[in-house]
Amino acid sequence: MEEQGYFYRDTWAEVDLDCISENVALVKKHLPQNVGVIAVVKANAYGHGDVQVAETALTAGAVYLAVAFMDEAMALRNKGISAPILVLGATRPTDAHVAVKYKITLTIFQEEWLQEAKKHIQTNERLLIHIKVDTGMGRIGVRSTDELRAIERIAAEDERFHLEGIYTHFATADELDTTYFEEQLARFENIVSALSERPKYIHSSNSAAAIRFPKAYFNTVRLGIAMYGLTPSLEMEKEIPFPLREAFSLKSRLVHVKKLQKGEKVSYGATYESTGEEWIGTIPIGYADGWIRRLQGQEVLVDGKRSPIVGRICMDQCMILLPYDVPVGTTVTLIGGQTEQFISVNEIAEKLDTINYEVPCIIANRVPRLYKKGGEIVDLKNYLLNDK
Ligand SMILES: *Cc1c(COP(=O)(O)O)cnc(C)c1O
Repeated sequence: MEEQGYFYRDTWAEVDLDCISENVALVKKHLPQNVGVIAVVKANAYGHGDVQVAETALTAGAVYLAVAFMDEAMALRNKGISAPILVLGATRPTDAHVAVKYKITLTIFQEEWLQEAKKHIQTNERLLIHIKVDTGMGRIGVRSTDELRAIERIAAEDERFHLEGIYTHFATADELDTTYFEEQLARFENIVSALSERPKYIHSSNSAAAIRFPKAYFNTVRLGIAMYGLTPSLEMEKEIPFPLREAFSLKSRLVHVKKLQKGEKVSYGATYESTGEEWIGTIPIGYADGWIRRLQGQEVLVDGKRSPIVGRICMDQCMILLPYDVPVGTTVTLIGGQTEQFISVNEIAEKLDTINYEVPCIIANRVPRLYKKGGEIVDLKNYLLNDK
């Protein structure tokens, strides 16, 4: 069988699309009816799969999509997504005509950008723009009402630009201390009030603020991490008033099982030595898959039991200490649930001294993503066709 999408290695990620739609629905229920959801699907939907998550979020009621770069927006268009898409990052003004052609909304924060972009857009064309305000994130955005008014003036005077939105981004919305958040919100309210006309979309909240701060809703929120079922931070986890469901899991299968005698070694550097008779299993996943060497010692689930990774993780394989003789072909869960046990994305993040956002993002493209709906793996093309 040499079908497209078929793969020959037993390592894969499963993305449960029901979790994504449930999470979107939970957040929507939590928001007032007039507040829309922008589904943030940058970075291949945080490693989950851009078009699959986008379709699911839109079906669950999202009104807009957001990505980091125009390349990502174009990829979604090329995969048939027609919903509005906002590029959150910077785009070159010389590429403005591409945004027009693909009906992609751009983030603007410099007057000079608009002056340059004019040269690259035909007079009968129209570019949708959202102005980004830097209220304290210190990344991109206008910082004063003067800068804002200059952009608003150019956009108002020139038919080629349509000012559709204005937004900002919080640096600390996931922290229990709300002082800095309040400062940012006050700055945003102040700058929005300096506009002579309010654009259609006004948005400031990421997942954390969408869950915690009704006064920061304006009329749209940008939902990223919570849509994937993950908490924006450990410190605000207790403040989430509804149960989010993790969509991402990572699985492999035992390709080899052997019995070691006391004193035998495992993997590069021969750093692991068996302490007695031990059953050692090999799984075909390694650091080139994003299962990086720092995960040595991390437990995985085999036959419902926690089993540690022993010896160094190789580029494409790693070894685990099995509880007993387990048959070759047995499924190994690296992230996700098996019987009563669950290895969360947060557990992996803690092991790596990082945040949960990073974990699905660093699982490489070499690991195929399979999609689940109604508890079953679906071929997404078939499921989309059946849906119509
Ligand atoms: C990534 C991103 C988001 C989504 O943030 P979450 O914490 O994942 O909800 C929202 N807004 C901007 C500008 C972003 O870059």
